[in-house]
Amino acid sequence: MSKSYDVVVIGAGPAGYIAAIRAAQHGMTVACIDEWKNFDGKNAFGGTCLNAGCIPSKALLESSELYHRAEHEFKKHGITTGDIGIDVAAMQKRRASIVRQLTGGIAGLFKANKVDGLVGHGKLLAGKKVEFTPVDGDVETIDATHVILASGSAPIELGVAPFDGENIIDSWNALELDAVPQRLGVIGAGVIGLELGSVWARLGAEVTVIEAMDDFLFMADRDVARVAAKDFRKQGLDIKLGARMTSAKVGKKGVTVDYEDKSGAQSIEVDKLIVAVGRRPFTDGLLAEDSGIALDERGFIIVDDECRTRVKGVYAIGDCVRGPMLAHKASEEGVMAADLIAGELAEVNYNVIPSVIYTAPEIAWVGKTEAEVQASGRPYKTGSFPFAANGRAKALEQVSGMVKIIAAEDDDEILGVHIVGPMAGELISEAVLALEFSASTEDLQRTIHAHPSLAEAVHEAALAADRRALNYINK
Ligand SMILES: Cc1cc2nc3c(=O)[nH]c(=O)nc-3n(C[C@H](O)[C@H](O)[C@H](O)COP(=O)(O)OP(=O)(O)OC[C@H]3O[C@@H](n4cnc5c(N)ncnc54)[C@H](O)[C@@H]3O)c2cc1C
Repeated sequence: MSKSYDVVVIGAGPAGYIAAIRAAQHGMTVACIDEWKNFDGKNAFGGTCLNAGCIPSKALLESSELYHRAEHEFKKHGITTGDIGIDVAAMQKRRASIVRQLTGGIAGLFKANKVDGLVGHGKLLAGKKVEFTPVDGDVETIDATHVILASGSAPIELGVAPFDGENIIDSWNALELDAVPQRLGVIGAGVIGLELGSVWARLGAEVTVIEAMDDFLFMADRDVARVAAKDFRKQGLDIKLGARMTSAKVGKKGVTVDYEDKSGAQSIEVDKLIVAVGRRPFTDGLLAEDSGIALDERGFIIVDDECRTRVKGVYAIGDCVRGPMLAHKASEEGVMAADLIAGELAEVNYNVIPSVIYTAPEIAWVGKTEAEVQASGRPYKTGSFPFAANGRAKALEQVSGMVKIIAAEDDDEILGVHIVGPMAGELISEAVLALEFSASTEDLQRTIHAHPSLAEAVHEAALAADRRALNYINK
């Protein structure tokens, strides 16, 4: 007799594993199938985020930031040390251990919530049946009342620079390098390219970032992008904008990267080249021909605002569907899909999804940029407050950057908050809550913020929107 479940989830990344747990919390029988295999040959739950994305990148960003601060800031604090060195093997051991703890944690959560975590490949057949090919054992067909597809994404490979896993590498390889490359090239100045470039630059690599767009961080507010570009260049990142790679060839001396910019054809040599030009939805081997699921022209599974596919009872969530490729967006879609299956009302507020870049300084925003508000034609006001005037930032020795708030002129509703500076990724949560509750700058102005804290910069930026900043001269 074939197995059957109320819900079968394919993919155990932040979209799938959260959906599975939430569905089980509703009292449904749930299986979650995942085939992820790490470089050590071991399977692990957690998908890209835990194994090869959010978590390992943040572990390395922290290690490299500490190293950088020890080298450049300790003296100012009066701390003397001997020669400071970096043991890349130890740093990578810590990264791997964090990943192991968290991915192992998902297996524990599955057990506690009575989710059957099935290791192997899942394929959606017609009639809400799922073909499961385990890593060990025979293929079986599972009956499901509901199916949630959460197969994630994969790095985009460029024909002019195919990955070889050694010299021309993707973001996953770049997280597992066992030595600091002397010369590192990064194609793409997006979130992933900047984070990875920062890690290896702080550890001593000469980093060149080649970006086809003319505008740096085109998706961010211009004021924030300006501060960030200046700081990254000061840190030694050589960011070439309006530069399009035409080829990358591996030779004896490393990788020769040819590109074109407004001055014509250019060439550089690097030891490693990270290609971080974006990710594509991953649906390879996921759908039987007669599954009834449709993909759009870019390969995303077509869904409505509630993540329903064209097949009744089949949902798709996370990176394999439209919207920003972010772990927190993926997880919230997982919660929504499970709640809808359980018959509850649920929605994801796609207008209030925070974006964070974990560089130094950190960059975070939520809502609209000033250019977007301007284009909408709605009269607006802005308030900014620099971290240079914030006591906590001074104590941290991290005074670069600012908080900028954009609000409607008529009813004072906050439309966007943009932060570049220390702990921007933490500070943005207050802004996310404010936008979720349609708060005004007056709401933030009248909210007490602890002193001394970085969050006071958010408070002061809200005051500055009405020219009432108290610790800065209003302009
Ligand atoms: C270097 C890097 C850094 C990142 N940093 C951040 C960050 O700081 N913050 C953030 O929000 N996002 C970050 N991201 C993006 C984030 O990782 C993704 O948005 C997130 O992982 C998407 O979750 P998902 O569950 O949709 O897909 P995934 O995490 O990709 O998981 C999909 C899972 O499904 C499995 N699977 C696919 N097909 C099948 C099948 N047919 N059968 C069985 N299993 C299958 C895959 O093996 C995988 O385990 C980063 C990404 C990268 C690469």
